[in-house]
Amino acid sequence: MPITAEAPSASRNTMSFVDREHKLLIDGQWVAAASGKTFEVKDPATGRTIARVAEGDKADVDRAVKAARRAFESGPWPALTASQRGRMIWKLADLLEQHLDEFAEIESLDNGKPRTIAAAADVPLAIDLFRYMAGWATKIEGNTIPISVGYMPGAEFHAYTLREPVGVVAQIIPWNFPLLMAAWKLGPALATGCTIVLKVAEETPLSAIRLGHLFKEAGFPDGVVNIITGFGETAGAALSGHPDVDKVAFTGSTEVGRLIVKAAGSSNLKKVTLELGGKSPNIILPDADIPAAIGGAANAIFFNHGQCCCAGSRLFVHRSQFDQVVNGVAEHARKIKVGHGLHPETGMGPLVSQIQQDRVCRFLDSGKREGAKALAGGQRREGDGYFVEPTVLIDTRPDMEVIREEIFGPVVAAVRYDEPEELIAAANDSVYGLAAAIWTRDLSKAHKLARRLRAGSVWVNCYNIFDAALPFGGYKQSGWGREMGHEAINLYTQTKAVTVQL
Ligand code: NAP
Ligand code: MG
Repeated sequence: MPITAEAPSASRNTMSFVDREHKLLIDGQWVAAASGKTFEVKDPATGRTIARVAEGDKADVDRAVKAARRAFESGPWPALTASQRGRMIWKLADLLEQHLDEFAEIESLDNGKPRTIAAAADVPLAIDLFRYMAGWATKIEGNTIPISVGYMPGAEFHAYTLREPVGVVAQIIPWNFPLLMAAWKLGPALATGCTIVLKVAEETPLSAIRLGHLFKEAGFPDGVVNIITGFGETAGAALSGHPDVDKVAFTGSTEVGRLIVKAAGSSNLKKVTLELGGKSPNIILPDADIPAAIGGAANAIFFNHGQCCCAGSRLFVHRSQFDQVVNGVAEHARKIKVGHGLHPETGMGPLVSQIQQDRVCRFLDSGKREGAKALAGGQRREGDGYFVEPTVLIDTRPDMEVIREEIFGPVVAAVRYDEPEELIAAANDSVYGLAAAIWTRDLSKAHKLARRLRAGSVWVNCYNIFDAALPFGGYKQSGWGREMGHEAINLYTQTKAVTVQL
């Protein structure tokens, strides 16, 4: 595994932000946590502390929810026209674009991902998401409905629906795409006129804090967006169980997803949307363009170090091409330059934390114990930082942990198949259903197979294709609801039926 040399340091501009004292954004003000507590933020490539942020807790969550409630019900935000709201979101996107390089550096330092990737993917996708959602602000419409009301013969009615914002929303996001996950959540909430309390992941709070500084500049009134840094068990739990929050939108593990549902159910039955884990099948059919499929399979698992909920972590290859494909993917794995995300040649950085590194290595050990073999990689890199080698596992069986559980690291488990029917059953044999991919030259076959795969996204001859206009979310235990697209707008609004007797 080639290791890139010591990283260049981040720009002075970025460091002047990172080095600041980071507080909570509540009601338009940056404030310390009520407890006065702070916690450390680490560079995962070195393990060194790079910043300290406020540790928000229940008392801070209460203040933030009060501010969001006030902003939702009175003051300038509900009085804005849809066009004004849309322009503010567009302005936010422009500001983000002006600071693209800074955001890419922050993301790299905080999460570990290559700066080049953050600059080409994370930040531009976030900008595009805000622009897409800015357009929706003026297009949120109800219907007029011809009603009959048979039990009132002769009566005439004018009936219509309004789509209104859900209200105060709590948004709890993970660390794998810190800025982009914030954008996916904030964009539709702002477009529909909701107000927000955002709880960012403890591992990666910096880009959301930086974004927080842009809201005022974009013209958003105080209290519309509140940002809490803190821990899931305290701040996150306080939000999901809060009696005055109307909806909680969560992205993260299925395990915490269950806790969110429980907290919502036992407090005020707030609405819940969930974007959870995955164990996505990537299927190569015998008639595929094999070199393209090999490259695609490597991208499917190694993009973002495999820390993608939709990572192509189960690779299905026909027996006749199995050796060629897995050797090809292993070759890709060996060539990836692993190193500090700020180094321009780095293709893969560290995992986000020691906890995540240990978790992935536990899966590698269990794979070995159960009889799988690492064709490439297979272990952690000793020394500083939380690096794990890009890994290709073969000799897998359907009952192995590495086939059944979400590893959330750069580890693909390859599966040999013989018959198409056996393939479909095996691909769908998971509690998850987030994504799937098919590689084939026969498009009729691809469309047929796409219908039979139980997943929220199916990619054909491509992988990891995201667009602000395309809904994304899970079947089965991969979640409730969808991110992005028109569907996200629907999930931040509710329908009111108005009936007028004429
Ligand atoms: P996680 O615990 O599910 O964290 C996601 C978010 O939920 C974080 O903001 C977290 O806060 C918060 N949270 C944790 N406990 C909570 C609670 N009781 N109530 C409310 N919010 C709570 O994920 P993780 O521990 O970071 O990662 C564990 C595994 O989850 C990964 O290995 C991976 O399998 C999966 N994961 C999936 C996704 C995805 O995109 N679907 C993303 C990340 C992780 P803290 O950051 O303070 O804990
Ligand atoms: Mg956690």
